[in-house]
Amino acid sequence: MDYLPIFCQLKQKACLLVGGGEVAERKARLLLAAGAQLTVNALEFSTQFHHWAEQQQLTLVKAPFSSNLLAGKWLVIACTDSSSINNQVYHAANQQQIFCNVVDDAQHTSFIMPAVIDRSPLVIALSSGGRAPVLIRQLREKLEAQLPQHLGQLAELAGTLRQRVKQQFSKLTARRRFWERFFTHQHLAQSLANRDQQQANQQIEKMFSQHCVDHGEVALVGAGPGDAGLLTLKALQQIQQADVVVYDRLVSAEVMALVRRDATRVFVGKQPGQHCITQEKINQTLLTLAQQGLRVVRLKGGDPFIFGRGGEELQALAQAGIPFSVVPGITAASGCSAYSGIPLTHRDHAQSLCLITGHTKQDRQLNWSQLANTQQTLVFYMGLAQAAEIQQQLLDHRMPASTAVALIENGTTRQQRVVVGRLDQLTLLANQVVSPSLIIIGNVVQLRQQLNWFHGEQDDSAVTPMVSLLR
Ligand code: SAH
Repeated sequence: MDYLPIFCQLKQKACLLVGGGEVAERKARLLLAAGAQLTVNALEFSTQFHHWAEQQQLTLVKAPFSSNLLAGKWLVIACTDSSSINNQVYHAANQQQIFCNVVDDAQHTSFIMPAVIDRSPLVIALSSGGRAPVLIRQLREKLEAQLPQHLGQLAELAGTLRQRVKQQFSKLTARRRFWERFFTHQHLAQSLANRDQQQANQQIEKMFSQHCVDHGEVALVGAGPGDAGLLTLKALQQIQQADVVVYDRLVSAEVMALVRRDATRVFVGKQPGQHCITQEKINQTLLTLAQQGLRVVRLKGGDPFIFGRGGEELQALAQAGIPFSVVPGITAASGCSAYSGIPLTHRDHAQSLCLITGHTKQDRQLNWSQLANTQQTLVFYMGLAQAAEIQQQLLDHRMPASTAVALIENGTTRQQRVVVGRLDQLTLLANQVVSPSLIIIGNVVQLRQQLNWFHGEQDDSAVTPMVSLLR
């Protein structure tokens, strides 16, 4: 970090501005808004400065710069046309250990002025340390557009309620929950936007009177197939409000980086060389954490209700009377299909779609004759180890050997790899990819030739010619 961002309390504090032109005006406006006691030194002043002086908002010193002017000042800004005068101001201020900003001169500056989004008392400051001003301007425009005007009022209101909230809710988690509700309360926001103070007060009283839940809860959240951009807004909200996140191997590092920094992370996936944590143990972990009054997010790759055992975990919670909710995610089939340019249905090629697990409980058999239908798309999850069986069964049930198949490894991530071939090569193809990989079988795979748009770091070029017949 090149600069430490701090917000200075400048009310009634003497500050010096050297320069009397347009740029100086902009700086003066900011310093005055912060309540500084401002002296402005220049040989000439714009009319605005004379106007401010007449209104006694600042003092003008029409004279060459002299270091005497620095006496008693907390902060100095130099923005004259002359770099030698600016230099002089900077060195004199430095000698007296007074923070000095020279406008547009990163060399001679001991503090910088950030771009500001002002929703006072909420203030957002942005800086690139002078490196990318256009980026800063764009970000500022984005934030300006996204942050509603009433945010300032909301922050102001929060300030007046802090003491009361502390008194009413002794536990930290209960307080945090109150504030999370407060800042996302649609009706309160609307009342503030409408400047309807009476209605806002009623809503606040209602929030206080509502029993603030102190028992835990679990949100079963789908993290999508890898690309963090595929998280839903709700999933993002949940992982940013969680006390604990219980996650497994399929949740990408990119997604985990978005989890609230202070949240505890509990890994329940399989680690190399270690046994899988049993499903019972995971159910018990969720239960114990929720019973401690924590807000638990059970984060799962893809969609939690598609081959995610989400149903089993919720059944255990339901039995114990723990409140829960579910946030769907983009399942691997959707993610891999989109990022490999293989539509799962197409009016000319597939009228139905089957999502199938390669891992069935031993007594559960798949209906192969139904699956071997060429007018549907088959998507096998966890199918790598069973590739030989899948190939054999489909061929035995008269699916043409030339049916197109694709295997998508690490779909939607930058490491995505896709291998394409024919059904009678499936076993060979499966040896060319590693887990997690998805198998797509059906005529739709051929559309990839035309529709492939996503190029991960390890693109098709890495695939041997034998397995890329259809490209
Ligand atoms: N609930 C998850 C599926 C879990 S089963 C979902 O809805 O996507 C695990 C299997 O999903 C893996 O064996 C693999 O077949 C598939 N899978 C998950 N993420 C994947 C990815 N990024 N790329 C390819 N396959 C993936």
